[in-house]
Amino acid sequence: MSAIFPKSRILLKGRRISNKFNVFKEKYKDCQQCPLHKTRNRIVLCRGTLPCDILFIGEGPGGNEDSLGFPFMGRAGEFLQGILNSVFHPHPDLKKNINTTYAITNIVCCRPPENRNPEIEEIEACRQRLIDFIQLAKPKWIIQVGKVAKENFPPNLPKLGGTLHIRHPSWAMRQRAGDRAAYIRTTQNSLRKIISTIEGSK
Ligand code: SF4
Repeated sequence: MSAIFPKSRILLKGRRISNKFNVFKEKYKDCQQCPLHKTRNRIVLCRGTLPCDILFIGEGPGGNEDSLGFPFMGRAGEFLQGILNSVFHPHPDLKKNINTTYAITNIVCCRPPENRNPEIEEIEACRQRLIDFIQLAKPKWIIQVGKVAKENFPPNLPKLGGTLHIRHPSWAMRQRAGDRAAYIRTTQNSLRKIISTIEGSK
């Protein structure tokens, strides 16, 4: 697996969050609330640091994620991770210490067959798990990655600093070099603004 991904897939900051995360994992580890459980290899709950300042929510696991058990680990994940590394871990020469943390999850936790979009019934079945995860992760900001995440964002969430929608990295990967570079730049700029607001409030 590419070295671009952080070594620790899940980093739990403190005993309290560890306990809560174990309860959460236990609750969903054998989830069979929708038909996607029949074809999955693994439930893909999350990766990143918990609690987190920024939570990225994608659509659903693909083949790599289904085998590894963590979200955004395939080619699109690698592309996104490159952007995350550039804004959360700037080059050491910049002498910037970023304390803002992030985690990643999806609208559904089990891989839709043939990588199709999740059906509305599957999204609804997985919504309580998403709400539970948001309550556990306590993000200040949520980034909706792609159209499915934007259109199926749960209403009535606890107070957030804000939300941002970005196009899915797999869309960006299909664009010509110039448009792909523009996507990277725009996403980096938006994330840097959010990170700077969060850093200012710490
Ligand atoms: S997608 Fe969500 S609701 Fe469906 S089986 Fe997986 S964890 Fe359960």
